[in-house]
Amino acid sequence: MALNRIAYAYYDPNWDRAQHPIALLVRTSIEPLDYLAHMKGHLHCPSCYEPLIRVPNDPAVAVMANGKKALFRHFPDEDAPYCRLRSSQMSGKKYNSEEEARQAVEDQDLVIISGFMQERPENQPRADFDGEKEPLETEFESEDGPEVAVPVSRHDGETFKLPSKVTSVQSLCTNFRHNYHREIHIVVEDQVLRYVLDVDLQDAAEIVEVNHEPKFYFGEIVRIKRYDFSSHVFLRHPHLAGNVDFRISASNSDLDARGITKENSLRRILIFFGVIEEIGAGYWSPNKKWGEIGLLPRQYEDFLRANYKKE
Ligand SMILES: [Zn+2]
Repeated sequence: MALNRIAYAYYDPNWDRAQHPIALLVRTSIEPLDYLAHMKGHLHCPSCYEPLIRVPNDPAVAVMANGKKALFRHFPDEDAPYCRLRSSQMSGKKYNSEEEARQAVEDQDLVIISGFMQERPENQPRADFDGEKEPLETEFESEDGPEVAVPVSRHDGETFKLPSKVTSVQSLCTNFRHNYHREIHIVVEDQVLRYVLDVDLQDAAEIVEVNHEPKFYFGEIVRIKRYDFSSHVFLRHPHLAGNVDFRISASNSDLDARGITKENSLRRILIFFGVIEEIGAGYWSPNKKWGEIGLLPRQYEDFLRANYKKE
């Protein structure tokens, strides 16, 4: 199995893993084509924080002799800690103790979601998600949830009790690049399911069957059909034989508050979390709640297109 492409590295010239806690790392994210010579030796993996090298080393070279695009790579190191961006195993990060796992949650390494907000919070102003800055916390879109038993122990079958958030897909989109390689554990009914957007985010254009396990999907908004209380938002789909298409539905008040309107959002990318059901000849994810949908900020559209399913 191919290794995951490392979509970005953290550049911090002052941080030294041997001396500094992860909380002190300045998370300036750099993509392979943003690389400059002075960054050499100061790039850190967004998943394990070990050093990364940029290949090729010459910042001016964007494509290698074999035709592959410039990329980030770990140093070969037999003793390196587990990293899902280094290994082809998909087992996820494991921790030795509850304390260690709690620290990972605090460091935003591990995201624990006990649910997505079902209703828009009262009296909350709408945050500007298309701004240039990357806020790490979005208070209006998250609140503390209960402690959740998460299977991230190194010992099979053991779980750790970890603090959770009730949050929104919009909140994940706001820091999309930072969240792209993060392990996200979500309580779904009585299970805790693990997602990482770099492999689990799927293009809605590829939906061709019902799926009762909720997943993350993205798609370009091509049409919005408005009814009295709700709307159907159609996402780009190849329109297979028999007029198979794809849509989501949500309340007009939530869609308006999120800026998902004809005037504002055609050609923008919608991200949602949910199950897939049949409607007519096509498919949909019906009755999306406030926290289950979000518009991807424009600044991440190229990032998503450049990294989606690329090795
Ligand atoms: Zn790594």
